[in-house]
Amino acid sequence: MKQPFVTLEQLQGIVREYPTPFHLYDERGIRETARALRRAFAWNPGFREYFAVKATPNPQILKILREEGCGVDCSSLTELMMSDRCGFAGEEIMFSSNDTPAEEFALAHQLGAVINLDDLTHVDFLRNTIGTIPKKISCRYNPGGTFTLGESKEGFQVMDKPSDAKYGMTRTQIAQAFARLKELGAEEFGIHAFLASNTISNDYYPALASILFQMAVELKEETGCHITFINLSGGVGVPYRPDQPANDIAVIGEGVRRAYEEILVPAGMGDVSLCTELGRFLLAPHGCLVTTAIHEKHIYKEYIGVDACAANLMRPAIYGAYHHITVMGKEGAPCDHMYDVVGSLCENCDKFAVDRMLPKIDMGDLLVIHDAGAHGHAMGYQYNGRLRSAELLLQEDGSTRLIRRAETPEDYFVTAIWD
Ligand SMILES: *Cc1c(COP(=O)(O)O)cnc(C)c1O
Repeated sequence: MKQPFVTLEQLQGIVREYPTPFHLYDERGIRETARALRRAFAWNPGFREYFAVKATPNPQILKILREEGCGVDCSSLTELMMSDRCGFAGEEIMFSSNDTPAEEFALAHQLGAVINLDDLTHVDFLRNTIGTIPKKISCRYNPGGTFTLGESKEGFQVMDKPSDAKYGMTRTQIAQAFARLKELGAEEFGIHAFLASNTISNDYYPALASILFQMAVELKEETGCHITFINLSGGVGVPYRPDQPANDIAVIGEGVRRAYEEILVPAGMGDVSLCTELGRFLLAPHGCLVTTAIHEKHIYKEYIGVDACAANLMRPAIYGAYHHITVMGKEGAPCDHMYDVVGSLCENCDKFAVDRMLPKIDMGDLLVIHDAGAHGHAMGYQYNGRLRSAELLLQEDGSTRLIRRAETPEDYFVTAIWD
């Protein structure tokens, strides 16, 4: 049973001031998850979470995470600029980008960010761009093949195809990159990899860590490079469906510790710091999209039209992703109506739910669409002239703060040339 982090009474108060649709974030939940992550890796003295800015690029969210000791993982010029403006500096910024334009490497270097190279050719591209190679540098690894984890009755619990992913270097290339970087003056080396997205398994990070730790030991021997950090990146998931189990970050941290002690410590590499770049795990459950039912339509199927659309939350439209829906005030009512819950885009994929069993929905009901706190508002777009909604923060004292206003038609018009 998924519970919203906000009550009907609270929401009724909020909508008196801010019209739906809007994204609402739960400060308390964000802080609790950030602290649980820190505790899970407290055994590793250099541990740092670099929050993946792309998941929820809101300055107030970034500031909360900064207070919780997180750095930021940026992948573009704008994300670097936002992080800089939020007070992140130097090694608090990880720059994990791909197909990177020169100006982005230049800004990352200027800010003192740790640069994570996606390709062997980027070694010389970086040097030619900024005129030097930073003392501390990281390379992204792609093992190729198929990555699988734990077989269940339905098949593999986690399966992804790194061989189809555009990211990272091959095993041979990463050794070449390390050797070249060392030749050009690098002194501290890091390894990064992202093999599977939204994993619902406590085994993903430990399995990934084992692969990277093993490779770090080999690379140290092959190249003589001093590897000082290993970046497990993102990919720890959240249970979007109510019947899915949640990951236990303490168990995950413990699994990584075991691999660390089995592989790195005996190789004399017990000083390696770990990093993570979680986005979804930290933020998804602590944000929701709040929308109002404004139309019902009975044709070949039963439709509920809401005032939000895929422009506010794209994941159902582009991935067919499940997002749980709570009809506020009807939590105890039987789910005896089958609806498609739809937005207004002239795109038939603009459906938040298809054939979903829900309580009877009346016009004016408030719907909470769960787990929209990461890759939600951030993926928004303006198709059909549907503008991006506001973002609100439910603060720890129970009050609500506007942390991004809704776009207005003027925002949409301002980039056009009118005459
Ligand atoms: C998207 C991304 C992340 C965050 O992924 P989540 O699934 O949100 O944890 C981390 N690192 C990199 C390089 C990414 O591209």
